[in-house]
Amino acid sequence: MSDNEKLSDKLTLKKKSIYDTADEAKKQMIFAFSEDYKAFLDASKTEREATEYAEAMAKAAGYTEFRFGDKLKAGDKRYYNNRGKSLYVFRIGNYPIDRDGIRIVAAHIDSPRLDLKQVPLYEDSGMAFFKTHYYGGIKKYQWTAMPLSLHGVIIKRDGSEVRVRIGDDEGDPVFYVNDLLPHLAQEQSTKPLGSAIPGEVLNILVGGMTLKDGDGDGSVKLNILKLLNEKYGITEEDFISAELSCVPAFNARDVGFDRALIGAYGHDDRVCAYPLLRAIFDTETDRTVLGILADKEETGSIGNTGMQSMVLLDVIKAVSEALGCSDIAVREKSMCLSADVNAAFDPNFPDVYEKRNSAIISCGACMSKYTGSRGKSGTSDASAEFVGYIRKIFADYGAEWQTAELGRVDLGGGGTVAAYIANLNIDTVDLGVPVISMHAPYEVVSKADLYSAYECFKAFVK
Ligand code: MN
Ligand code: MN
Repeated sequence: MSDNEKLSDKLTLKKKSIYDTADEAKKQMIFAFSEDYKAFLDASKTEREATEYAEAMAKAAGYTEFRFGDKLKAGDKRYYNNRGKSLYVFRIGNYPIDRDGIRIVAAHIDSPRLDLKQVPLYEDSGMAFFKTHYYGGIKKYQWTAMPLSLHGVIIKRDGSEVRVRIGDDEGDPVFYVNDLLPHLAQEQSTKPLGSAIPGEVLNILVGGMTLKDGDGDGSVKLNILKLLNEKYGITEEDFISAELSCVPAFNARDVGFDRALIGAYGHDDRVCAYPLLRAIFDTETDRTVLGILADKEETGSIGNTGMQSMVLLDVIKAVSEALGCSDIAVREKSMCLSADVNAAFDPNFPDVYEKRNSAIISCGACMSKYTGSRGKSGTSDASAEFVGYIRKIFADYGAEWQTAELGRVDLGGGGTVAAYIANLNIDTVDLGVPVISMHAPYEVVSKADLYSAYECFKAFVK
C-alpha cells in the first residue's frame, strides 16, 4: 500500500459491500437469517397476519399479553396487541428508565395493495368483479395482469368473524386485474404511466360462470354469492363490515444466480419489522426495550392503529407509572430507531438519485439523518449529537451500515413514522433496509442488508 493509499484508507469514507468482507461463517448467518425472514413474509401478507405471526414469535420468546392497567416489574416481557393490526413488544429492564429511557425500534407492517370497497361485487358481460380502492402509493399499471390472492376478515351480522386467505396455496384459485391487449392499446400506450390505468379500472376478476336457472339469463354475480355463502356463510351485506385486500399471489424467492437478493411482496416494511423482533428477542440487556409494529404508515399513520395515535404515549405512560417514574422524564431520555426502508440506488434510473448520498445495495442498513425533500419539508432532522451517539453504538458493536437520503433534493423524498415519535420528545433517527422497486408488487432487497439491520437493531437495544 502506498502512503497515499494508507492516508486515503484512514481519511476517506467508503461504502463497501458486506459480501466483499463477509467470511464464510458470516455469509452462512446472513443466508440462514434470510430463510427465517422469507417464512415470516410468506405468512404475513397483511398487517393482521404479520401481527399474528409476531405475537406467536413473542409468545415463543416467553412474552405474555399486556393489558392497560396491568402491573409491571423489572424483568417482565410483555406484548400489547392493538386491535389485531399493530403490536408492541417490550421488556422491562433493570436500569432506571427515567435515567436510561426506553430504547424503541419502530417499523410498519402494512403494505400497498388493493382493498375491496364496501359494495364490491358486480357482474358485467359474463364476468364477476370486485371494486377496489387502492391502499398506499402504487403505480397502478403494475397491478394488472398478474395473480392476486385475497386476505382479510368479514364480521357477519351476528358478530362472528370469518377469516379469508385464498390464492396463496398451490391449488387455490387466484384473482386478477384485466389489462388491455397491445393490439387495442394504441391510445392507452400514449398516455402517461400515471393515468393509463385509472383507479376505477382496478377491478378484481372473481368469476365467469352463470348460475343456471333454466331461462338462459342466469347470473354470474348470484353464483359467486352462492359460493361465498356456502364457503364463508356470508351474504352481500356482510361486505360492509369486512376488510378484504388483494395482494400479489407470489411468495418470497431468492433473486439471482448467487442468491444474494430476495424478491417478495411487502418488504416495505416487513424487512425492518422482522429483524427488529429478532433483535429484541435475541438480545440480553438490562435496558428497557420496546419494539413497535405499526399499521397505516402507507396512508399517513392516522387512526388508532397508526403512529399518530396516542397508543405509543399510553404504552410509555403505562410502563413509566408501573415503575414509579414520570413519563415526561422517560420520554426525554428515550431513543428511537424509526426502522423503515429506503430507496436503493438503481443504475437503471440514475437520474433520480444523487449517488454520493444514496443507499448502495448490500452496503448495509441505511441511516437517514432526515427524510423529506425540497427544503427538508416535513422531516424530523435527528441532531448531530444523537447521530454521533448511534454511530458510536454501531462502531462499538461492529455493525455495518451506510448513510443516505432518498432521491434528489428537488425531486421526491418520502416520510416515515420518525416525526410522530420525535414529536413526543424522543430522539429519533431513520434506519432501514434499502429496497429496489419500492411499492411494486414484487420488491427486491439484499440479504446482507437485512442481516445488517438485524445487527444494528441488536447493537441499539443491547
Ligand atoms: Mn415504509
Ligand atoms: Mn412505503
